[in-house]
Amino acid sequence: MHTNTVVIGAGHAGLAMSRCLADRGLEHVVLERGRLGERWRTARWDSFRLLTPAWMMRLPGHAYHGENADAFLTVPELVSYLAEYARSFDAPVHEMTTVTRVSRDGDGYLVRTDRGEWRCSNVVIATGYHSCARVPAMAAGLPSEVVQVNPASYRRPGLLADGGVLVVGASASGVQIADELAQSGRDVVLAVGSHTLLPRRYRGRDILWWLDRTGALDRTIDDVRDPVAARGEPSLQLGASERPVNLKALQAHGVRLAGRLIGAEAGDVRFADDLVATTTAAAVRLNRVLADIDRYADDRIPGVAADATVPATRVRPGPRQLNLDRVGVRTVVWATGFRPTYPWLTVPVLDETGRIRHHRGITAAPGLYAIGLRFQHRRNATFIDGVRHDAAYLADHLAARRSLERPLHH
Ligand SMILES: Cc1cc2nc3c(=O)[nH]c(=O)nc-3n(C[C@H](O)[C@H](O)[C@H](O)COP(=O)(O)OP(=O)(O)OC[C@H]3O[C@@H](n4cnc5c(N)ncnc54)[C@H](O)[C@@H]3O)c2cc1C
Repeated sequence: MHTNTVVIGAGHAGLAMSRCLADRGLEHVVLERGRLGERWRTARWDSFRLLTPAWMMRLPGHAYHGENADAFLTVPELVSYLAEYARSFDAPVHEMTTVTRVSRDGDGYLVRTDRGEWRCSNVVIATGYHSCARVPAMAAGLPSEVVQVNPASYRRPGLLADGGVLVVGASASGVQIADELAQSGRDVVLAVGSHTLLPRRYRGRDILWWLDRTGALDRTIDDVRDPVAARGEPSLQLGASERPVNLKALQAHGVRLAGRLIGAEAGDVRFADDLVATTTAAAVRLNRVLADIDRYADDRIPGVAADATVPATRVRPGPRQLNLDRVGVRTVVWATGFRPTYPWLTVPVLDETGRIRHHRGITAAPGLYAIGLRFQHRRNATFIDGVRHDAAYLADHLAARRSLERPLHH
């Protein structure tokens, strides 16, 4: 089969790309190994809600028009939104079609799937930046009786083995899972690494409203001093409700806090003595963000009083060492981040860490693009709300390429 462009993946990024290609009259297909929005359906826990309010689902040519624009949508609500989006422009999505190999084929590409082959001039990789849980090598040092899960395989407290749980990582997934486990009556130890603390609400508004307004999410990779560090920033330590899930609140709910996990040998785990340093660093960054918001609000939105919802950051350091068996911990949740994987890609565009080398999603291989990458251009590039800029930019690039391909008399 032939088409101009194959988009791989029908998450929000693949769909946004499809819409922008359709708007420019570019023939394409979107190949999806599962169902549309598959990763939301199968790689999130049961109580999952988006951390971004519904109004932050602006996709190319589409916006949320439901009842409550401030709601944090559940997975079924989000999947319906994506399905409605795909229907709105008759997106050419081929579900249950897994791409097994992408290789160069003359000036174009050969895309092999478990349902036949596609030849095309362009490929857009939209298979998700968060496609694989990043688990540190020390996980191999845990005894086999300890069950190990991650935010993509954890579902709910009742499905874990009885007993305590060690959650490793205190960004968005880690703190929400630790909170849910503690609420269900489990003993929870949370190993805290570097994190970005924010209050859910500030000065009477959702924090993301402020970050959107002040332009903090629109900062581009060209504006930051250290692009590598910026692309490695942890996710926001936020929950999808007014219930705070910051460290102070978790501690008040009985979660024991420890420093970064630094070793696991047999049943013994060790934590760094860095909890105070880590939380202090997070507090410094928090104060910087809030000061930017205050400056913006004081200048442009007079009359909105600064409020006191800023989370307290001083916490009691917990254990430096634990024997998991002795304290009854039978499960470890690795909430240590995600990374992308491209096992089917034979075109040499990956760097030594396995990430795609690119500039604004354009790789060195002509016609090979990616979308939905961390800080692809703007900080919010992996957010549902951020993808529209990259989709339009790449579609313009593809359209320009297409016009060069056409014989002049056409
Ligand atoms: C736990 C978590 C919470 C998040 N919460 C938010 C939030 O609240 N708000 C927000 O804006 N963003 C959030 N994000 C970030 C981002 O929106 C999601 O990661 C989102 O899923 C990325 O969309 P995507 O389209 O780039 O990739 P995905 O949704 O991962 O879509 C990629 C698609 O490609 C398909 N695919 C993969 N390999 C193949 C193959 N070989 N062949 C065919 N198809 C393939 C997959 O099945 C999948 O459907 C969150 C991310 C995580 C991990």
